[in-house]
Amino acid sequence: MSLFEKAVSDLNKRKQSYDRNRKPARSSSPRMTWLKVTDDPQEVVIRSPLEWWYSHFQPSIGRSRRCCGEECKLCKEGMSVQLRFVLIVQCEDGSIKLLELREKHEKEIEAINDNEHGQVGAKIRLAKAWRQKNAPVLIELIGREPVVPIEASRIVRSLGLEPLRI
Ligand SMILES: [Zn+2]
Repeated sequence: MSLFEKAVSDLNKRKQSYDRNRKPARSSSPRMTWLKVTDDPQEVVIRSPLEWWYSHFQPSIGRSRRCCGEECKLCKEGMSVQLRFVLIVQCEDGSIKLLELREKHEKEIEAINDNEHGQVGAKIRLAKAWRQKNAPVLIELIGREPVVPIEASRIVRSLGLEPLRI
């Protein structure tokens, strides 16, 4: 089973996959900003292994909250869970940013995976298919570069509001 298949199947069986010891880390790393993907193509090099987290969007407060699996109050209430992929990327100007991709980009993420390094070192061209906010992101592999991987797991554990437990 590939990482992606696992991530997607985990979404469907959060109860089994929940690790209750996985506490959110307080981010001590410098604040990283999110890469803004527009319909104007940009080239970036992936620097981190793929990470993901699960969230619930709470319209009442307009924020995303982490899902904690079997003890999650929002799952119990039937609120839908979103799978969100995160990668650290290096931009053309050398800056380091966070890139978020959604479940709908699973095939594109898999396509830039090589078995030896995963997505790390993949040079990709990114652009929104059209201008609207929710437009899918087009991802094209244009090469590979030798890079030193950056760990993204701590940052990803700090994303979103604290989960609501039952
Ligand atoms: Zn949940």
